[in-house]
Amino acid sequence: MTRDMPGFFNVLAPDDALKVIRERLDPTVEKEPMATHEALGRVTAEDVRSPEDLPSFPRSTMDGFSVRSADTFGASEGLPAYLELRGEIPMGAASQIDLSPGQAAKAYTGGMLAGGADAVVMVEHTQPVDANTIEVLRPVAPGENVVQVGEDILNGDVVLPSGHVVRPQDIGGLLALGITGVRVARRPRVAIVSTGDELVPPDTAPGPGQIRDINSYTVSALVSGAGGIPVSTPLVKDDLEAQRETAARALAANDMLLFSAGSSMSNRDLTASVIDGLGSPGVLVHGISLRPGKPTIVGLVDGKPAFGLPGNPVSAMVVFDLLVRPTIYLLAGCPVPPEPPRVQAELLRDIASQAGREDYVQVKVVSRDDVLCADPVFGKSNLIYTLVRADGVVKVPLDKGGLYAGEVVTVRLY
Ligand code: AMP
Ligand code: MG
Repeated sequence: MTRDMPGFFNVLAPDDALKVIRERLDPTVEKEPMATHEALGRVTAEDVRSPEDLPSFPRSTMDGFSVRSADTFGASEGLPAYLELRGEIPMGAASQIDLSPGQAAKAYTGGMLAGGADAVVMVEHTQPVDANTIEVLRPVAPGENVVQVGEDILNGDVVLPSGHVVRPQDIGGLLALGITGVRVARRPRVAIVSTGDELVPPDTAPGPGQIRDINSYTVSALVSGAGGIPVSTPLVKDDLEAQRETAARALAANDMLLFSAGSSMSNRDLTASVIDGLGSPGVLVHGISLRPGKPTIVGLVDGKPAFGLPGNPVSAMVVFDLLVRPTIYLLAGCPVPPEPPRVQAELLRDIASQAGREDYVQVKVVSRDDVLCADPVFGKSNLIYTLVRADGVVKVPLDKGGLYAGEVVTVRLY
């Protein structure tokens, strides 16, 4: 491919560009041991199975009385069942009481059932008669107000499948079973190289024509959020040799390369040459039917993904979400990344687009008369503050020429 072509040819739809990388990428997931309580957000690297039944003993779900349910059949306020009280089952201890017909034992929520009992009567449905007798005012069915052995999970069942992103409740479920460590995928190391003669670090006052580097930092934060380890290099000038050298070193030491800027088609744009020169096959996709984010490069270098992100910070963030985030999860052995939160909202203004292109429009989410509404944040697509002011983003699908005020749209929330 010649690099001095003025326009984009063979641009791919975002989904198809992702498919290209999915089909070509065959990562070996390296496993590492991790304390369960520190595994939040990590991807399980193997199926985790339960070593025991949970609960391991029948538990009451109510404060009340362990009973043999048959003793309560037909009980009512008018004709209560009288049961002999055998004492109580203390919390955190095994039951020392075996019920004979006509007997009950005091039960606490979460405590063990008495031997011979098959149900619990809620305390509200009983009345004390004397120190050793209660009245049961309503019948209970076998199993009522009881969690059975193994009802939560059975010995040998899969607790979490391989490739699962660990959530707070998963940590609870694992620790409830005594699984204090899990094997997770090593976090992918993602190198970020920001290029451009005009860039200065954020703590430097820009000279005339210069701007502060945004992408190194927004993209780093996005990498962390996607479960990767961001590894930033110092800024690189628009110089082919300097870029090649930085890129080669960054890729050798990491699992993936993100190049910021220089991804367009002019002969000032070096990213495609850099990625092609790094190894094989190099650039796979150059140009995506997407706004913002058309000048995007998707490549693969000796088995490692390499992306050229547009320099425009808004575009870079949109492209990250569509292509880079799923790729980081793929590297960690997770084929489908966790779904970001979404809400349905009524669009407040028309959004123009072009059929054959996916548009991503920043919106504020506002409540009008208790109806959730999406108000587009207009402004040129290269303004970082359109993103800062937004609560989420709305997609105009590939085949649509726009969206109309009043339509209900899906907002992906930040
Ligand atoms: P390019 O992709 O090189 O054509 O850059 C597109 C626009 O993004 C230009 O206005 C650049 O100045 C700007 N830009 C490039 N890199 C960055 C960066 N790291 N942070 C903020 N803006 C950038
Ligand atoms: Mg540039």
